[in-house]
Order: sequence, then C-alpha cells, then structure tokens
Amino acid sequence: MEELLEALAPSDTALDLGCGPGSFDYSRYLFRVVGIDVHLDAANLFRDDQRVQYIQSSAEEIPLQDGSVDLVFCHHTLEHFPDYKRTLSEIGRVLSPKGLLWIAVPDGYSFDDLLFRHIFSGGGHVNQFRRVQLSRDVSALTGTTLIQWVRLHSGFVYLKSPTPEQLVHFPETAKYLGKLPERLSTLWITGVNLVTRLLDKTLGSEASLYGWGFVFSKVPIEMASMKSCFNVCWNCGSGNAADDLAREGLISPWIGFRVYRCRGCKRRNFFLKPPEGTA
Ligand SMILES: [Zn+2]
Repeated sequence: MEELLEALAPSDTALDLGCGPGSFDYSRYLFRVVGIDVHLDAANLFRDDQRVQYIQSSAEEIPLQDGSVDLVFCHHTLEHFPDYKRTLSEIGRVLSPKGLLWIAVPDGYSFDDLLFRHIFSGGGHVNQFRRVQLSRDVSALTGTTLIQWVRLHSGFVYLKSPTPEQLVHFPETAKYLGKLPERLSTLWITGVNLVTRLLDKTLGSEASLYGWGFVFSKVPIEMASMKSCFNVCWNCGSGNAADDLAREGLISPWIGFRVYRCRGCKRRNFFLKPPEGTA
C-alpha cells in the first residue's frame, strides 16, 4: 500500500474513507488528504490546514465532487459500512478517470474475524465478505478493474491490553482484556500468533489469515507484486518480511524458538519461517 501512496503527485488528492485517527501517516506525503469518518476525535487528528481536511460524514453520501479524488483508501473500514454497495457507488463517482482504490477487509469467515466478533460482540463488523464476490461487487459498482490482491495475515492486535480510554468503549464481553496482568496478556496474544502460524505451516490451514488487500484502478497500470507478510507484529500490526528482518539482523534465538524485533515498534515477536508464497 505504501507503493500506491508514494506514486501520488503533490497535486493529487487522497480520500481516507473511515479515517479514524488516520489510516496512514499523513505527515510523510505531499499530496492533499481528505479524511472522512462518522466520528472524528479532534484531539487525535494530524493537522496541516494547507493540505489535510477532515469531514464528518457517512461513507454512503461522500460530500465531494464527481471525479475529484485520485486515490480512495478504504483500510479496514468497508466491513463496518451498513450499505457498503452504496459506498462503493459513491467511491466510483468521486474517483478521477485515473483513480486508484485500495481496499483492505477481513475474510468474514476466517478464524481471526470469528474470534474478533465473538470477543467484541460483533465489533461493528456488519459485512462478512468473501474475496471473489467482493472483488466483483467492487469492479461493477466503482467502474474499476482489479489490478492485484494480496493475503493479509493477522497480528491479533485486538487482544492487546486496552488503555483506560479504550476500555470505556469495549463491550462487556471484551472487558476482561483490560483486567489481565500485562505478562498474561502478552503471553495470550503472542501465543495465539504462534499457534495459528504453526498450524498454518504444518496443516496448510489459514488460521493466521486476516483477510485481503486489493488494488483496483480505473485504467490499466503496472505495479510490482505486493508481499504477503507471514510475520505480523502483535503490538502494532505491521507486517515484517523475513528477508528484511534477516538483512537488518533483527532475528535471534530464544529458548528453543526464534524471535524478532518488529521493524516498526521494536517489540519482540515469535518468528516463523514464512511458508511458500509469503514473505
Ligand atoms: Zn510492531
């Protein structure tokens, strides 16, 4: 997804749909950003009045002009939009003739999504997607073509011990996450990451799968193949490619296992050699 952002010119506009506190680091780029969300937490928004604009709005009626956006970023949000087909039609309307679309969603039938919805009483995931059907819906409703898609593995980050501010918004079913001592919490979340990946490596299952990332475009484009990172940090959710970790000397032995320091947040994770087809 960084590749899409880096390809934008300073005169381009990116729409972060369901932006929350920002789906990517706005400060790293020069293009214009419009962040749209039904709830905007003013205290946690990146500010740059020349370049970054926030609009409180539903994603089903995007308050932007036709053809005014060069990249729509829909990052872990489409599963939350009640009428996602209407949202897709709106995305198609606001995309420029050369527009690009990034969508990352959970596999609605994965262990990861099942566990999330179980613990968080649904967690606001009102849509359960299957890859091929979603891809067809997106192309038909936005007038774009699928350029490529990639499997995204989970770091099960939602099992992390919440801050007191986060805990206030947790449903009763998830409150216990706030009561676990930190060591037990870390053991639980790293254990889930380790066991699901061991299962995947030995059985060829997809227990560690989160979902998929898709790139759609209004016009044909060339782009390098995206990596499917098998090792995903439990603390920050960053994918860590094994080659990068090895090159930077971040993998080390630890009582019979191998562990790595996340390239993003530097926390320690179990390392598993990626199976074929993953990085
Ligand atoms: Zn991390």
